[in-house]
Formats: sequence, C-alpha cells, structure tokens
Amino acid sequence: MSERVIPLVDQRIRALRAVVPTTPVVPNGLLSDGLGRPLRDLRISVTDRCNFRCSYCMPKEIFDKDYQYLPHSALLTFEEITRLTRLFLAHGVHKIRLTGGEPLLRKNLEILIAQLAALRTVDGQPLDLTLTTNGSLLARKARALKAAGLNRVTVSLDGLDDCVFRRMNDVDFPVANVLEGIAAAQAAGLGPIKVNMVVKRGTNEHQILPMARHFRGSGIVLRFIEYMDVGATNGWRMDEVVPSAEVLRTLQAELPLVPLQASAPGETAERWGYAGPDGRHDPSLGEVGFISSVTQAFCGDCNRARLSTEGKVYLCLFASQGHDLRSLLREGAHDADIASAIGNIWQQRSDRYSELRAALPADAGIGPGRRIEMSYIGG
Ligand code: SAM
Ligand code: SF4
Ligand code: SF4
Repeated sequence: MSERVIPLVDQRIRALRAVVPTTPVVPNGLLSDGLGRPLRDLRISVTDRCNFRCSYCMPKEIFDKDYQYLPHSALLTFEEITRLTRLFLAHGVHKIRLTGGEPLLRKNLEILIAQLAALRTVDGQPLDLTLTTNGSLLARKARALKAAGLNRVTVSLDGLDDCVFRRMNDVDFPVANVLEGIAAAQAAGLGPIKVNMVVKRGTNEHQILPMARHFRGSGIVLRFIEYMDVGATNGWRMDEVVPSAEVLRTLQAELPLVPLQASAPGETAERWGYAGPDGRHDPSLGEVGFISSVTQAFCGDCNRARLSTEGKVYLCLFASQGHDLRSLLREGAHDADIASAIGNIWQQRSDRYSELRAALPADAGIGPGRRIEMSYIGG
C-alpha cells in the first residue's frame, strides 16, 4: 500500500440545502454568476462506481470491498436527471457530459440518453450530448449509445504500453480492449473522439510520444491532462505533475506543432495542431489538446456546473460542498421553484480554486482539505 494514500473523509454527506429564493430567478438563458460567468456546461455523474482503480482517482486502498457506495435509492432516477437537465438548459446550458465513476456501468443508460437527446437548448437547438468513459465497455455499447442519441465520446487512456496501462488502471485491464472500444466508437459515428491522458511523473510520461504517434492523423484528438489535486485520497504531490509546457516540449522534439485558436469560450483545452512540411497546421494530421488546470488556471471563463449522482450541484471541481436539489425534487417542488433555486445557486457562485492555487508558490498546494472525490463528481 502506498504510504501517501490519505484516508477518506466522507464529504458526500455535507450538503447545502438548495434554497428557493423569495425573488424568483426566472430562466431566460442569461444567467451569470458572481464573477460574470454564464452557465453553459453541465456534467452529470450517473454512478459513483467504477470497474477501474486508477491510483489518481480511486486508489484500491480506499475504494476496496468495504467501501460504501451510494445505495440505489440515493441515486437520481433517469426521470429526475432529465427533469433537472431541462431546467439547467432553460438557464443557458448547451452541453451535457455524462460521467461518473464509470458511466457505462449504469444500467440502461441508453434510456437516459434518449430522454436527454430529446431536450432542446434555450434557443431551440439540440444539445451537445457527450460522455466520458474508460472505454472498457465501449466495444459492446457504442452502437446502442449512438442509436439512443449520444453525439460524441471522450475516452480516458493513459498509455499504449500494456504493462503501464494495466498498472495504472490497477485491475489488470488490457489496453487492446480500450483500443477496440475506441475503434467501435469511431465506426458507430461517435466522433470527433477525444482521448484523455493524465500524465503522472514517474508513471507514464514515457507514453507521451507513443500516444501522440498512435493518434496523429487518426481523426482522434489526444488531450494531455495535468495530474490534479482533486479529492483527498490520491496523495497528490506537485512533483508528480508534468506541466503541459514540458509535454509540449517533448512532443515538439519529434512532431512539430503550431498553436490553434480556442474553439469556444470556456474551452478547457489549449489546442495545438500538427504542422505539415510547410510549417503550417495540416488538418489531416489533426491536433492535440492540453488541459493545464495546475499550471495555467482557467477559472476566468469557467462555465461548468456538476451534478452528482445523488443530485447535488457542485460549482467547482474542488468544492467541498454541494447544493442538494434532490430534496427539492422529492419534496414535490414545482419546476419554477427548482429552476429558481438553480439560478440562485449560480448567481452566488464565486469559485476559482485553480486561480487561487496558482497564486501560491509552486510546491505549496492548498492541501487536500475536505474535497469531494473525482469518482463521485465526475471529471
Ligand atoms: N470513468 C470515466 C473515465 O475515466 O473516463 C469517467 C470519470 S473520470 C473521473 C473523468 C476524467 O477524470 C478521466 O479522464 C480521468 O482521467 C480524469 N481524472 C480523474 N482523476 C484525475 C486527477 N487526479 N487528475 C486529472 N484527471 C483526473
Ligand atoms: Fe474509474 Fe475513471 Fe476514476 Fe479511472 S478515472 S478510477 S476509470 S472513474
Ligand atoms: Fe472551474 Fe473550479 Fe476548475 Fe476553476 S478550479 S476552472 S472554477 S472547476
């Protein structure tokens, strides 16, 4: 057992009651928070369970056979998720990402996807409906997910070397099966596919170039994610973070890249395109992304809210408390009141954890504090 694994303080029970304000916050798509940021992106965790034990997320020592996952009755039902999503859309959300735990472990997920796909944004447009998965069940499920209305998938994959990958997922899961899942997703039309690679020093930084070579020119966008100090159990240390600038230098030594424009405000990844012989971006070679939440804070235009498996809204990945919407749902509140409560929660928001962390000396960190786990809230 790693000495650095920190015992889990269960943050799931801490919640703020979602309050229905006396002055209604009527949804009109124009909601903004205390720092003027709109609400555009909702990440919904559909399960707190996972079949992997990635050490940076669900270390085996904590998430063992005695770990108490949420009981089924605590989980939002598909109808509850769909109802809340409709109200979030009315406030201006355009993009929904299903996550977890491992979202494909949630039984009959296709039914939820079909319900969500039928919803519309505040301007009457179909939503951008995506899912983040470890890919283990994708080969089996890709076609059904597409048929249900899912637009795209992001697959997490931390290396191509089978030994490295098996060690990182810590359940001896072979890399070939994830690659098969990615191929199935591509064949089913769940693209453009993104692949997320968390880079951890001393563990998989030697996989940066093999991953880049593999996905270059494939139509799949590889994104390098800095190992983050989320949760309280992974024993995060700054010296295990490989800064994006270093990843970029490693890539540039062999595969020339040029910076690309951000595709949308609030976009988490910085984009770089592979250059052709003329030194300009060659779209046929594709691009990579860098998600640098440790070395380059991007809170300024963070437009994301997170809905936990049991119906709490979190305003930041590093929040220690969520706002309980499930109680309102189950107490029989009307749509207008729940929408008003959501609006009120967002209006009060002032979270900017990464910016505050960035203001500290590089090795200071803010400490694990009393944060919720990534597997509970989703990425
Ligand atoms: N199980 C799914 C998966 O792995 O794609 C979805 C949930 S997982 C919590 C979402 C994303 O968070 C994954 O891409 C994962 O690599 C990333 N993640 C988890 N813990 C992280 C950490 N400590 N630092 C950076 N990324 C992390
Ligand atoms: Fe599971 Fe995803 Fe966390 Fe890995 S990162 S343990 S696959 S939830
Ligand atoms: Fe958004 Fe919080 Fe991440 Fe900043 S630290 S970008 S506010 S989720």
